Amino acid sequence: MPNPHINSRLDDLVANTDIGEDEIASLREPRRRIEMTIPVGLENGEHATFRGWRVQYDDRRGPTKGGIRFHPTVSEEEVTELAFLMTIKCALVDIPFGGAKGGLEIDPKEYSADDLETLSRAFGEALAPVIGPDRDIPAPDVNTNPEIMGFIRESYEAHYNVSASGVITGKSITNGGSAGRETATGRGAFFIIEALQQEGLLGTRQAADTSVVIQGFGNGGRHLAMFLYKSGYAVIGVSDSRGGIHNPNGLDIPALADHKDSGQSVSEFSGGEAITNDELLALPTSVLVPAALGGAVTAGNAKAVNADVIFEVANAGVTAEAKAQLAVRGIKVIPDVLVNAGGVVASYFEWYQNMHDETWKEDDVDEKLRNHQITAWQAVQKEAEEKNISYRQAAYYVAVRRITDASEK
Ligand code: GLU
Repeated sequence: MPNPHINSRLDDLVANTDIGEDEIASLREPRRRIEMTIPVGLENGEHATFRGWRVQYDDRRGPTKGGIRFHPTVSEEEVTELAFLMTIKCALVDIPFGGAKGGLEIDPKEYSADDLETLSRAFGEALAPVIGPDRDIPAPDVNTNPEIMGFIRESYEAHYNVSASGVITGKSITNGGSAGRETATGRGAFFIIEALQQEGLLGTRQAADTSVVIQGFGNGGRHLAMFLYKSGYAVIGVSDSRGGIHNPNGLDIPALADHKDSGQSVSEFSGGEAITNDELLALPTSVLVPAALGGAVTAGNAKAVNADVIFEVANAGVTAEAKAQLAVRGIKVIPDVLVNAGGVVASYFEWYQNMHDETWKEDDVDEKLRNHQITAWQAVQKEAEEKNISYRQAAYYVAVRRITDASEK
């Protein structure tokens, strides 16, 4: 079934650049979609059946790569769109992978840690026949973490009776993970914000004058907030799924992170004023960062956005209709495939270390990560300026050219 979100992105590229329909036809549909039914026995003695998907979108540039999310609204359509985004992302930041994504339809908040372990192991068993270090390499995404990656790895290894640390990335350091992987999505986004700031593209002279609002305090948003805070930016608003917090003078991010770790919502933090998610998105700010689920900035709320630039840490954080409205108002969007690529770049480093039996230091990982992110940003900026197209169109242009070049080799 054609996916309208994918088609609209590709149509946009054909309409605004010299890429022809013949070049992108092979990118309109994924190579493989796998639907899995996963029956498990729960802690309370009941049995439940869950649905999961793995979509391997395109493997012309290498084994497919992408996270696995646990969420109640996961669908085949969403996983397919996200697998497509991974294909574009890996090509844009020039790592030798294609794109994939996985999802399990579950609300993890409703299950105990033991049940989530059972389920993760069962999902790993269901995935085992279709993944592998040279084939398709999962990683964490929304609501999944290094521990869950460890369970999936163990299921894969038990299935084939092998040791295969490279079958999954985003593992804990003690389980074959890489230094710097946990914070890499936030760090990669930080490098891009910093590059724009230094080039004067945020309209401010220095970090302290640059205010930032971040929707979402999960892996990406939280680490990004911390890097910005440490470099002197004013992070004036933050939210999680239960509400937001605002302090026009800048929030104390380390204290906010400690508060969140104690199990409370950021909105209950004493160092600011509680606000709703809608109020957060409308705060006057230099930079707005959707860093939670996709579809945060929509046609409905885009007119309230009061930011100079949006950095899309969440995959598909801004809808297509919202993008058009923001463009009319001159609000630039720096696209997800660039902004949040740090996670998958560090995943590539982790996989590389696993495959070559190497251990890199965190500083080396960070420096290599910076190179990939900044090189990609420069390529995007060059195409955007030369062709007078948006940053997103430029990012897709660079990526699609690399993918089609790979198929000709
Ligand atoms: N889930 C992350 C993403 O959307 C990372 C994927 C990976 O490391 O493979 O890019």
